[in-house]
Parts: sequence; structure tokens; C-alpha cells
Amino acid sequence: MHTQRINALREKLAELALDHLLVTQPDNIFYLSGFTGTTAAILLSPDAPGRFITDFRYHERAAANISGLPLEIADSALRPLPDVVASLLPDSRRSRVGIEAGHMSQLSFSQLAALANIEPVPTVKLVENLRLRKDAAEIALIREAVAMGEAVFAHVLSRIARDTTEREIALEIEFQARRLGAEGMSFPPIVASGDHASRPHAGYTDRRIVPAAPLTIDMGVRLSNYCSDMTRTVFIGDCPQQWRAVYNTVREAKELASAALRPGLRGCEVDKVAREHIAGAGHAEHFGHGLGHGVGIAIHEDPRLLWSYDGVLEAGNVTSCEPGIYLPGEGGVRIEDMLLLTDGGCENLNSLPTDLQVIG
Ligand code: ZN
Ligand code: ZN
Repeated sequence: MHTQRINALREKLAELALDHLLVTQPDNIFYLSGFTGTTAAILLSPDAPGRFITDFRYHERAAANISGLPLEIADSALRPLPDVVASLLPDSRRSRVGIEAGHMSQLSFSQLAALANIEPVPTVKLVENLRLRKDAAEIALIREAVAMGEAVFAHVLSRIARDTTEREIALEIEFQARRLGAEGMSFPPIVASGDHASRPHAGYTDRRIVPAAPLTIDMGVRLSNYCSDMTRTVFIGDCPQQWRAVYNTVREAKELASAALRPGLRGCEVDKVAREHIAGAGHAEHFGHGLGHGVGIAIHEDPRLLWSYDGVLEAGNVTSCEPGIYLPGEGGVRIEDMLLLTDGGCENLNSLPTDLQVIG
């Protein structure tokens, strides 16, 4: 699996006439090697084994990760990465070394460029583009993460009472996720009650849950280094008519977009399906974020379901679908599931219902 990924990348190097590619983005390093430590880089070559650059703290772990892969350990001896890379390349000429322009700092880039035997060449999303299409092993891990996220959510929802605070719910989410075996959260949970729910990325506070107002919970677990992401908006005690109408519009928008989602469409075209439905209900200006984002090793990755994303969707993509309507000062509703693109359409990876729920 990792060898296949490395070989796919090596072919790219040859196409781009690069002597090497220096991978420094941690998620990309994990994708290529399974390594999860904090300090490593991979220097790939088109034809020779690549070098896995790390230091004493990670020698054993890295050796286990790269066993059987076309990679060899190179000890950094805790020197700056540009110096380590220079020491691994011939002195006799300037090697064209692709760097990850979206990740490497300007400082590191200029340090590399100042070395006599390196010509750094910016590259964009070489590994990320491989990550777009999840393979069977990744899809299995994502399914497990989604199932765990739903188990956490269902447990937490059953414990919400009228005097519960946003913070208590967020802590319970984190506790349950860790108890069930997650490495952590995909992101800090969002627990937003009442007018807080009009802020898409609200976080949480010490507020007690506001009755008869939206309570939006957006959460995901990180399991085997893959993320889940889901949102439900529920109501405590009662759901006023105004919110019932908003809720139904959001739910319909999600269903319409999910029904439309299939390989061959551009991300912006799917976004438009949900956006037009919400605009038709008079809420055009109340849906200011994209419809969805890729989910995998990173919680937010390509492809995007977004008005500005032209990329064409393909089978094996995993995206969120999360329309929302936000009324400033009043509250908001968002519903989010994760979808797997299949040959003919898509599969909803979530199974918790999206029916309007009034609890307590
Ligand atoms: Zn989310
Ligand atoms: Zn999301």
C-alpha cells in the first residue's frame, strides 16, 4: 500500500524532471510511510530508494514503519533540514529538489536555495492529489471513525438535560471518544446553543442549553489517524415554527445535494444545488460557507464542495455535506454527514437520522 503510493509519486518526479522530492508535510509523511512522529522528512528519488530523515528519538519507530518500503533511514543528528538534505546529495552538481510549496516556510526555502548543490523547485499538492482518492484500506478506517463518532454523539445526546452547559457536552464528547479508543478529536467540538449557533465555528462556553432554541453539535473523532466529522442541530423542550422551517430547508438542501453528488461533477456544481435551494427559501445571505470538504487524514482537505472549487469529483473521494442557515443574533441550523463517492453516485457513511429531534 505505502510502496504503491511512493511509486506513484516517483512517476510524477520523472514527469516533472525532478531529481528528488522533499516531503515535509506531516499528513503526507504519514500517507507515504505510516509514520506519526513529529519530526521527519522524506527525500524521494525517481529510481533509487528514498531517505527517511529523522532523529534518534524516532529511529526505532521509523524503522518499523518503513520496513519493506523503498526507504532508508537517514539520521538528521538534529541538524537543520536544509543541511541534512544537502549532505545526502552529490556535491558535484545542483540537484533539482521539489519542495512542498504549501508547507515549507520561506526561511527553509531560502536556506535550501542558498546551498551550492540544491535547486529547490516549488511543487503544489503532489501528495495531496494522490490522497484525493481513498483506497479500500482508507475507506475501511474512515468507516470505523464515522461509526465511533456516531456512537459518541448518540451517547452524549442521551445525557443532555436542561441544565447541561455547552462545556459539559464538549467535555463528555472528548471523554467518550477517548474512552472508546480514539486518539483524539478531529477538531475541538463545537457545542453552540441559542444565538451562539449563528456562528458556524462557535466553539463552546459555560452557557446552559437554551430551551426552544437550536443546539448545534459539530464533532469528529480521530481514529487510526483518520477523521470523522458530523453535525446535528437539535432542540431542547420545543422547536418553534420559525426554526422548524429553517431546519427543513437545511435538511432538504442536504438531501438534494447528496442525491446530485456523483463522479464527473465539479465541486462547485454540487455546492450550487444546496445553495440554490437555500436561496429559494429566502436565506441566500445566511449560508456563507462551502457545502463540504474532503475528510481523510486531515479534517479539511480536498476535494471541496465550494463555489470556487473547479476540481472534478471522482469515485473514492470522501466529502462532508453540511449546508447551514445562520441568523445573526438568533441562532442557526447545520446538518452534516460524510459521503463516499461511488461509481454511480455516493454512499452516506453516516447512519444517525437527520429528522428534527426535540429532546428533554
Ligand atoms: Zn463538522
Ligand atoms: Zn465539516
